[in-house]
Amino acid sequence: MLARLFRLYGLLVASHPWEVIVGTLALTVCLVSMNSLTASSQMCSWNECPKVEKNVPSSDIIILTVTRCMAIVYIYFQFKNLRQLGSKYILGIAGLFTVFSSFVFSTVVIHFFGKELTGLNEALPFFLLLIDLSKACALAKFALSSNSQEEVRENISQGMAILGPTFTLDALVECLVIGIGTMSGVPQLEIMCCFGCMSVLANYFVFMTFFPACVSLVLELSRESREGRPIWQLSHFAHVLAEEEDNKPNPVTQRVKMIMSLGLALVHAHTRLAAEHPDQNRSVEVPIAKTLDFDGTVWPMKLTSMGLEQVITLSLALLLAVKYVFFEQTEAESSFSLKSPISSSSPTQKPKQVGDSCRRDLKAMRPQRSMNAMSEINFSPPAVSDSVPSLKDDRTFREKVETSPYVSSSVESLAQTSSLTQCSSSSEPRTLEECMTILFDPQRGPRFLSDAEVMNLVASRNILNYKLETVLETPERGVAIRREILSSRLPVPSALDRLPYKNYDYSKVMGSCCENVIGYMPLPVGVAGPLLLDEKQFYVPMATTEGCLVASTNRGCRALSLSGGCRSRILADSMARGPVVRLPSACRAAEVKSWLETSVGFALIKEAFDQTSRFARLEKLTVGLAGRNLYIRFQSQTGDAMGMNMLSKGTEQALHKLQQQYLDMEVLSLSGNYCTDKKSAAINWILGRGKSAVCEATIPAKVVKEVLKSTTAALVELNVSKNLVGSAMAGSIGGFNAHSANIVAAIYIACGQDPAQTVGSANCITQMEPAGPEGEDLYISCTMPSIEVGTVGGGTNLPPQQACLQMLSVQGTSPEHPGENARQLARIVCGTVLAGELSLMAALAAGHLVKSHMTHNRSTTNLSAVAISKLKTSA
Ligand code: NAP
Repeated sequence: MLARLFRLYGLLVASHPWEVIVGTLALTVCLVSMNSLTASSQMCSWNECPKVEKNVPSSDIIILTVTRCMAIVYIYFQFKNLRQLGSKYILGIAGLFTVFSSFVFSTVVIHFFGKELTGLNEALPFFLLLIDLSKACALAKFALSSNSQEEVRENISQGMAILGPTFTLDALVECLVIGIGTMSGVPQLEIMCCFGCMSVLANYFVFMTFFPACVSLVLELSRESREGRPIWQLSHFAHVLAEEEDNKPNPVTQRVKMIMSLGLALVHAHTRLAAEHPDQNRSVEVPIAKTLDFDGTVWPMKLTSMGLEQVITLSLALLLAVKYVFFEQTEAESSFSLKSPISSSSPTQKPKQVGDSCRRDLKAMRPQRSMNAMSEINFSPPAVSDSVPSLKDDRTFREKVETSPYVSSSVESLAQTSSLTQCSSSSEPRTLEECMTILFDPQRGPRFLSDAEVMNLVASRNILNYKLETVLETPERGVAIRREILSSRLPVPSALDRLPYKNYDYSKVMGSCCENVIGYMPLPVGVAGPLLLDEKQFYVPMATTEGCLVASTNRGCRALSLSGGCRSRILADSMARGPVVRLPSACRAAEVKSWLETSVGFALIKEAFDQTSRFARLEKLTVGLAGRNLYIRFQSQTGDAMGMNMLSKGTEQALHKLQQQYLDMEVLSLSGNYCTDKKSAAINWILGRGKSAVCEATIPAKVVKEVLKSTTAALVELNVSKNLVGSAMAGSIGGFNAHSANIVAAIYIACGQDPAQTVGSANCITQMEPAGPEGEDLYISCTMPSIEVGTVGGGTNLPPQQACLQMLSVQGTSPEHPGENARQLARIVCGTVLAGELSLMAALAAGHLVKSHMTHNRSTTNLSAVAISKLKTSA
């Protein structure tokens, strides 16, 4: 009930931050302005505190200095503790803000009650000693763990529900306990206790109003516009709710506190009533307004005229501040650093994380428990107790995973992977039963399991290896554990050490690009260009490990640029999928073929096909027949997608329709190799697949000579002998070129295309002819009938690949004419192939191929010293 009240209150404050902040400030200003009115009136019985002598004895000064130092050390440790809660700076700032605002507020209140600020000098240490930053920080953590403004409000209200009642009770108890000091009869103690009570109340007031409102407002203002996520969002606080709920106050303690506060309230009531009796009234001649003002100087002035005790206190404060900021172990991740995209950070960066030590523990343990567990994977799966909830049941598993709050795929959380892991303090893993309970406990989850424990769960198949990324709190941890498991089975266990896996956005990979992930492969990406194509310049990214390739293509681009560039056209745009269906007889199959070729049949099939996508529109059916097997090649435009999945979806739907028409038809396979995908096939070469493009250029004789170091005649002759006759002799299908696949593969890998589709996409015929009045110029063209490319879907969703597509201004969907980006990419591929053909053919004609490869492409690692020196001399 009380918690609900606080929750509602928290929601109110967090939802109306402006109103609360303005209201609090207005109240503060009111108090200040009313000060003059009230200073003279005796509003508070504390005004009756006795006068403090101006000449304070030296023993008092010593006590005061010691108290100040204690207060500073106490505050220092409070800040140190904050670091264990989370960020060094952000929570520190939150804490400082609380101290500052409650200090300002209490001084205003003190002022309001007619007391002079000079008394702060003495009371400040006590004020500091009363501050407990952890609650404010815990509330800040609640807010910072949110992903949206709605969540900020919700989390603040939840924080309030949890922290509010405790904090209220604590404030009450503190006030009553300190209040006893105001009745002690010791003048200085009474003054300080007065101030202490005031501070506790002010601190409470600020915590309940100003602080949550400010946190809510700051997070709202600092939201990133695109994703609506607060820029200070600290994903390692994502589980703060659970933690804090875990740390709910002990009800027994709460009850004791309540009884205590009741007792204290009675004591206070009794003493205050007695104090009003004239006989017991202590003789107080000077109101506190005057007693606190020792020497009549204005307090800021007083601060400047420092005595020895102030010097000591200040030095200590400075020393500890410097130690905290510069010499305390720096946190690996400042909250602000999370603003930068993790995927762009260097893979070699190894932030020091809590989880690293877990992994060290794990390595130390591996020979014992984990190795046993691993051997169990291979040979004898352990008998799992019936009581252990098993993940073998896929459906239950999915439900549990989907409803688990720990399944996170946010980019920010990746960086925090290891630090989230709350290793069990003992080095011995817990039992499977315990681990499973922890795994499915919404309050705890996988981060409360050590890596070794997770590995045991994998070994016992309670967690399926391929689902590690989904089950664990972050995909990166899943990948790390899979690597650990795999390493122990490899002939060289350290083999994976040089395969990076950190700082990669696996959320974009999961479920679409790769499974059983153990890392990622960094590849060098070179750039060729500018390629002058259709009067536009392109810098073409190429991912390759073949030396010379980028350099050679670059030379081709240069030759083209000096020749006025190349021109391209798209001849056709149609992806294909060719299923195989079977009929009872060849005659029946022929019947179906005939029906599909009628306009009625086509229209019916098209209707079913077109329903499956906003972009796929069936254009053509090519039907082949072999006995009673029917091969139907569906062709359709696919917008900016390469379209294989799109075609598969549409084809499946269309076959469904066909089956309704011909009940005796059996679908043997959605792909009957009549498409044909990723295999060399004449059908693609002849009918085209994906984008069919052509590109041409005329190279002046001067450029042929100076840039390509060849002659038109030599190039034309070589082209006939090699690319036409040579390929015909080899029985090539679509391979009438020098090395089109080289360029296609390098661009495909860089731009997130399906690299296996290089097979069909590299189909190309390169033609060369003498041109110009005297036939000394070179006319070259490349015709490529089956370029399978897309700028949405598949690997184009990965950030680095998107960067390469952006280099070419073709990333994503083309807003005005869907498909234009993909067609432009196909033109660029064709143009770059032309550049590559030009350069390689020239190198071959001039006999430079071997020489340049020996210089740029041969690894010196495996050569003898003699060979290296020979190579250098020849170069
Ligand atoms: P996809 O990602 O499966 O489909 C494209 C998605 O993007 C569709 O949902 C489409 O909407 C949407 N989309 C948004 N804007 C678009 C636009 N401007 N143009 C086109 N689509 C747009 O991509 P896909 O190209 O069809 O398939 C590529 C994947 O298939 C790759 O991962 C590749 O490796 C894989 N692949 C599959 C096979 C296979 O046999 N299935 C074979 C080879 C490769 P709609 O929902 O409205 O269509």
